[in-house]
Amino acid sequence: VRWRRLLPLVALIPAGIALQVVASWTPGLVERVYSTGLYPWLSRAMTALTGWFAFSLAEMALIAIGIWVVIVSGVTVFQLVFRHRSIRNVLLNGVVKTLAAAGVIYFAALVLWGLNNHRSTFAHSSGLDVSPASVAELRAVCEALIEETNALRARVDVDENGAMRVRGSREHVLERAARGYEGLDLDYAGIDPRLAGRPKEVRGSVAMSYLGISGIYAPFTAEPNVNMEIPDTSLPSAATHEMAHQIGFAREDEANFISYLACRNHPDPDFRYSGAFLALSYALGTLAREDPEAFETLYAAVDDGVKLDWKTASEFWAGYDTPIGEMSSRVNDAYLKSQGQTAGVKSYGRMVDLLIAEHRRKESG
Ligand SMILES: [Zn+2]
Repeated sequence: VRWRRLLPLVALIPAGIALQVVASWTPGLVERVYSTGLYPWLSRAMTALTGWFAFSLAEMALIAIGIWVVIVSGVTVFQLVFRHRSIRNVLLNGVVKTLAAAGVIYFAALVLWGLNNHRSTFAHSSGLDVSPASVAELRAVCEALIEETNALRARVDVDENGAMRVRGSREHVLERAARGYEGLDLDYAGIDPRLAGRPKEVRGSVAMSYLGISGIYAPFTAEPNVNMEIPDTSLPSAATHEMAHQIGFAREDEANFISYLACRNHPDPDFRYSGAFLALSYALGTLAREDPEAFETLYAAVDDGVKLDWKTASEFWAGYDTPIGEMSSRVNDAYLKSQGQTAGVKSYGRMVDLLIAEHRRKESG
């Protein structure tokens, strides 16, 4: 029978799980053999193919698969109604085919990119000191980021409401994004600027907004896909975030930190502001939770333009009524929250820990 031949593909599911478990035990090996060995070749080969297309191949493929599923479902219902096939046959085929497809997709995604989830941490490979920090240290990072963000805010364009605007068109932002990665490898080992391709615009961006997603990396086509509807403050950093995934950094918080680095390294002020805005949102959002009093003092020092940008971003996401919280909303709402202080040193989540580590590195040398 035909479905039996698909069973080896179903076996890719447990095989993939086993591969992930083994990989999670050996981050050093994954780093050497996969992330800095095989993956750069894979990524460059895929980008060489898909980079030719101005549109997102992944999005087209998703639409094609959607249409195909609708057609197959229609045909199956027809066959059932006219009794050309038994329910048992349809169910068995359906389950085995679905599992086989899931096995192929899961295993391929793992081999083409997902193993990067198990590489050494970015802190480890770049030598950043992410040991626990005091609230005073967190506060110092916030102060430095406020200074950086305020200064950059004065250099960006604004729209008729006074909110930050990117330079030129939104497509132009995607075209300029790769410049942020140029030369970044000189300071941070593991970042390969040659792997940064051009991010792709998603035509159905509105669907992503409803899901609360700013961007998505497509491992099968090595394409960084960007939601083109998001506020201007987030567009440059969303593009560099998806490119961080493309370069081989799979973990969300590390991609955020690398996105900040790439924006800061960018020649254009709108990128630098977008990155600083992202980092400040994280750091200040954390300070609001850890030390509400210090937060209030520092929040008063934030430029009114930056506050307006938080409000704009917060309103944008509120408009979609998505359950997924945005950092901007968090800072915007932080006044309303009042929680107990914590003494001593601790970890604040990987993004903020990396910001603190980076601050330490700057301070010490
Ligand atoms: Zn991401």
